[in-house]
Amino acid sequence: MGRVAIYAGSFDPLTMGHIDIISRGAKLFDELVVAIGNNPSKSYMFDLEERKVMVSEACQDIPGLRVVTFAGLLVQASESEGANVILRGLRAFADFELEFRNGLANRDLSGIETVFMLADPPHIFISSSLVKEISINGGDISSYVPGNVLTAMRRRLAN
Ligand code: ADP
Repeated sequence: MGRVAIYAGSFDPLTMGHIDIISRGAKLFDELVVAIGNNPSKSYMFDLEERKVMVSEACQDIPGLRVVTFAGLLVQASESEGANVILRGLRAFADFELEFRNGLANRDLSGIETVFMLADPPHIFISSSLVKEISINGGDISSYVPGNVLTAMRRRLAN
């Protein structure tokens, strides 16, 4: 059986921090599934399909990647996508507590293991919410997001 990992998030929008985890993670597994979901307690700048297109475009040169959308529990998506590992990025101690709880819950629910990759120091402070806040207030986010996301955000904010 091949090693298939699932890397899930909202990706609203995709950042260079996500791309760092995706490109390093793709080298560790036979296949990496990037799964884009909605958290019911959040409101989004881009809808699911727009986020899927942005991730697919920005990551088209990374081999062994599949981009999907999902609803419901990550363990359910992992099973339906044939993933046997959950991949997560860890930015800081602040991420740890939630990730620790989710990782243990997911293993309890389905037996699936979670693998953490440490964020790359230059990307450690980048988050989707920070990128949105900076761009909404007219700041420069061009080094924090890929070119297609920058274009999409400029277009969205101009409307
Ligand atoms: P959500 O909106 O569901 O919190 P995110 O899109 O923010 O999801 O994050 C998805 C995954 O990417 C998480 O594992 C998160 O820790 C990781 N991640 C987010 N930003 C970075 C970054 N700058 N460097 C490394 N990992 C990151």
